[in-house]
Amino acid sequence: MQTEIATDTKEDPDPSHGPDSLKEFRSAGRGFWNQVDEASWNDWRWQLQHRITNVQQLQRLMPTLTPEEHAGATLANHKLALAITPYFFNLIDPADENCPIRSQVIPRVQETHTAPWEMSDPCGEDSHSPVPGLVHRYPDRVLFLVTDRCAAYCRYCTRSRLVSNATGYDFHPEFDRQIDYIRRHPEVRDVLLSGGDPLLLNDERLEALLTRLSAISHIEFLRIGTRIPIFLPQRITPQLCEMLRKFHPLFISIHSNHPRELTTEAREALGRLADAGIPLGNQSVLLRHVNDDPEVMKVHVQKLLRCRVRPYYIYQCDLIAGSAHLRTSVRQGLEVMENLRGHTSGYAVPQYVIDAPGGGGKVPINPDYILSRTADQVVIRNYEGQVFEYPEAADGAPLVKARASFEASLVG
Ligand code: SF4
Repeated sequence: MQTEIATDTKEDPDPSHGPDSLKEFRSAGRGFWNQVDEASWNDWRWQLQHRITNVQQLQRLMPTLTPEEHAGATLANHKLALAITPYFFNLIDPADENCPIRSQVIPRVQETHTAPWEMSDPCGEDSHSPVPGLVHRYPDRVLFLVTDRCAAYCRYCTRSRLVSNATGYDFHPEFDRQIDYIRRHPEVRDVLLSGGDPLLLNDERLEALLTRLSAISHIEFLRIGTRIPIFLPQRITPQLCEMLRKFHPLFISIHSNHPRELTTEAREALGRLADAGIPLGNQSVLLRHVNDDPEVMKVHVQKLLRCRVRPYYIYQCDLIAGSAHLRTSVRQGLEVMENLRGHTSGYAVPQYVIDAPGGGGKVPINPDYILSRTADQVVIRNYEGQVFEYPEAADGAPLVKARASFEASLVG
């Protein structure tokens, strides 16, 4: 197996990163690893074994590391481990300090700065955890943490307290206790497997877990949250898809933030999951200089649909300790949303949410489309700023005027 890194053969990054260029699907290429044989490169285990995990490797592959990144990478393993798959590393533009891929996975020293309002557990998961590895925050569904490992680590991870075990959280899921809790709670109808990344489990372990969960009579459907199709599309093998299709209804939420993450490799991996009948949604985190540009986000959501993935949520970045340099304002988030609704297909428009700090759950955030509301009418505006009046009905009373004009429009 050939595994040497040829450090002088990095393919030129895309010279143009404008919205038109971002629409195209490109391969991540082989970059520094062009000496590696095809079978190894396409083997997800090879990709995991050859991840970039320390500052020396990073500096060697990317001499353009800034002092902030160098210091951040040196300290990284005190907060959240540094790990980047060779495949994903090839998406980084080493010539661009503000590369939207780079800032998601290469630590900066700013991670050591903590604002007073930042937290290690911003969503209050630990306080809603009846047994280790299980979060029961909402009435009818639970979050089932499967592992603390990911293929690569996002510098803004909301679970950085436990993911990668860099802070010594010492996370040990106890599947028996987690499953037992679900069995004893018939109100739980929906289980979301997350972590860490559940698709890092091998096929056999994942199948065993899905089998046990789907055997619980009150579980109506299962979900998996994963960033694997983006960090490690090689993991989405035909065998994995064959196994997953046995557990319908099974939904998968992926996590992609920027159109450049949607490569030909990612599109093919997502296509395999879609062909297995799995409904796919995407969750993006709104990040400064990554996807807080309305045009970039528009390209991203449109490109997701072309990958057969429905944009599901845009999250305001949680108040995770050391993430201030990546957070963008709610005002900017609203501008992003304003540029989507009405300006592109409804299927491409996700819900913007803030996970209420401390464990309040997801709160939908929308631009103000209702201008005023009285007992008699609602005044609304559309995406072009045109204003309309809609007659309000007394509770239970039909909207006679509105119905008459609606029927007239049908006849006409
Ligand atoms: S893939 Fe998910 S769990 Fe893993 S580091 Fe990124 S955000 Fe955190």
